[in-house]
Amino acid sequence: MSIKEKCLCAVISACVAFCSCGSKNTSVNKNDTSKSATRDVFAMDTYMNLKAYGSNADIALTEAESRIHELENELSATSETSDIWKLDHHNGEPLEMCDDAVVLINKAKEIGEMTDGALDITLYPILKEWGFTTGEYNIPQSKTIDELLKNVDYKKISVNENTVTLPENSLIDLGALAKGYTGDEIMEIFKSHDISSGIVSLGGNVQALGKKPDGSEWKVAVRDPFLTDRDMCVVEISDKAVITSGNYERFFIGDDGNKYWHILDPKDGYPADNGLVSVTVIGKNGLECDSLSTAFFVLGYNNTLDFLKKHPENDVILVTDDQKIFYTQGLKDSFTNISDMPAEVIAVD
Ligand code: AMP
Ligand code: MG
Repeated sequence: MSIKEKCLCAVISACVAFCSCGSKNTSVNKNDTSKSATRDVFAMDTYMNLKAYGSNADIALTEAESRIHELENELSATSETSDIWKLDHHNGEPLEMCDDAVVLINKAKEIGEMTDGALDITLYPILKEWGFTTGEYNIPQSKTIDELLKNVDYKKISVNENTVTLPENSLIDLGALAKGYTGDEIMEIFKSHDISSGIVSLGGNVQALGKKPDGSEWKVAVRDPFLTDRDMCVVEISDKAVITSGNYERFFIGDDGNKYWHILDPKDGYPADNGLVSVTVIGKNGLECDSLSTAFFVLGYNNTLDFLKKHPENDVILVTDDQKIFYTQGLKDSFTNISDMPAEVIAVD
């Protein structure tokens, strides 16, 4: 179990004042927020915790849980029945895919384009070579990486409505963005059941609907990448996702004593080492925040700031490898540093 997974329940439980009311009720007042329900789910290789307030909380969570499993069945690169597995084994022929897969592939292409290829879902064969997909870690030979890099290029994925074509020697996985999308989908399910207050943690990625039932904002903790049993800061949010990519989430120490982590730079196929050890993106859309958190990790500090100058919609918290925290102006009144690291606001413009 990764550190992120071990800690995810704590993320919500430590920082959000949960009420311990019964989980089932038959009240007709749909906004009765004295009622609540929680659910723990293991899916997408991670522990998830869902919480909703209101008379329909239990039914909303049941629907959310089935949607999570549905998405996992469609999007997993390792399950032979998933749309992604089918695409990866379709020998370069066009494949009719489900709407969810198409939404994610299109978003991955869009963010790939916007970040000069920092996000590239065709990295999968290289991730496999490093053992990040199985936990059987290994430092690949550089000539093996160079050979596999020839088939890494998200631009070669063609999408025409729901028909997707992937070149024969390429493979994709959506690990960098699937959980963000799942969070968005759960928020929609909550809303469809008249839930106006809820929060989910999907492997440490937090997404909240509305405010807490008492009208205050949700307090969401972000892990300290250097002391991974501790949090480094708390942000107060409502109706937002808080999504982190960090080099402490999945890594191994090689025989050479070096640390190798699971976010790779598509330019060379090695763990991205551009000065950042943790990137948190905070914004309205979970899918976008998840795609960007991985891409910013690859881009590094300066290129991320250049991106934010052109696209200031989301806030970020960046931690550099020399142990400094930087956060955007939009978090000025909602960010609390609880670490020993210095934290400063970055002026994007
Ligand atoms: P996240 O935790 O959202 O940053 O996603 C990390 C996961 O995305 C990894 O475990 C890989 O499956 C995948 N991945 C790693 N590097 C990249 C990259 N540069 N572009 C796209 N996916 C990546
Ligand atoms: Mg991501």
